Amino acid sequence: MSATYRAIEVSKPGQFAEVRRTLVDPGSDQVRIRVEACGVCHSDSGTVEGLFPITFPRVPGHEAVGRIDAVGSEVKGWAVGERVGVGFLGGACGYCDLCRNGDLVNCKNQEFTGIHSDGGYAEVMLAKASGLMRIPDEMSSVDAAPLLCAGLTTFSALRNSPAKAGDLVAVLGIGGLGHLGVQYARHMGFEVAAISRDADTAPLAKKLGAHHYIDSASTDPAAALQALGGAQVILVTAASGAVVSETFKGLRPNGVSVVLGVGPEPIQNSTTDLIFGKRKLEGALTGDPATGDTALRFSSLSGVSAMIETAPLEQAADAYAKMMAGKARFRMVLTMNNSITSPASEAA
Ligand SMILES: [Zn+2]
Ligand SMILES: [Zn+2]
Repeated sequence: MSATYRAIEVSKPGQFAEVRRTLVDPGSDQVRIRVEACGVCHSDSGTVEGLFPITFPRVPGHEAVGRIDAVGSEVKGWAVGERVGVGFLGGACGYCDLCRNGDLVNCKNQEFTGIHSDGGYAEVMLAKASGLMRIPDEMSSVDAAPLLCAGLTTFSALRNSPAKAGDLVAVLGIGGLGHLGVQYARHMGFEVAAISRDADTAPLAKKLGAHHYIDSASTDPAAALQALGGAQVILVTAASGAVVSETFKGLRPNGVSVVLGVGPEPIQNSTTDLIFGKRKLEGALTGDPATGDTALRFSSLSGVSAMIETAPLEQAADAYAKMMAGKARFRMVLTMNNSITSPASEAA
């Protein structure tokens, strides 16, 4: 009899089911991972609500941490027993023109974890070796999980931005992404302004490392940023096109507004806002695996960590609902208590 493990799959849009799956060997370019923790990310809605073309059933989850327990025949550089992370990008192909030009994030043949392949809401998952990230020994699997997507996304965007030490960097939105963005910006040596839509968030923003707090409900955030000299970078973690527009004029000349939050609203800025001052508006999608390694190591060295609530794997549907309702403070992480059966234990 084959060994089995527990997984939470989405059987059809909006419907979770706990199932037992049969353990399979990794493909030649894959590793098999005993998952220890998996974060619940807003992008999981792409799977749960069926926003992407999904072949159901599908196991969501792209903030998975665990130990490698089997390695495919062609895999080099990874070994059984290593603790690894899997993020949203399922692993670059290495041969398309974008990969060959060093742009692994935009690989044409990249699958998205939990969307095209089964993700980390499970005790076991398969992952392509080219997408793996290394977890520092001193970091717990629970702490590492949210850094694989929310952490990497904010870290990579700041690291690739034109801001230099001492420059004013604004973080718009203090939620799952923003509460990490503020910490990274502070530890990277920027002057940090946090922007959110109420007065109550000010103490938290300051505690996370913000030097300034701007309440965009009571103040014009663009004018407030200009009063501080203008932002070199605005990291937009809120999923609203309107807030991008209303803060854009807070950029200093040659400043850039980097959009990370996905939302349906259009972004409306005038051409003169772009042209006078040569301001830029751009998007950023998570980051490559080496930047992920660096994000994890930097987090460990500097003490950056996500604020986390944990829930056992079997409560995945509740954890997902809490995250979608905006009630998680700030990242939900599923923990596995490992009920994997071996053929021996099943026979006993
Ligand atoms: Zn994510
Ligand atoms: Zn490629």
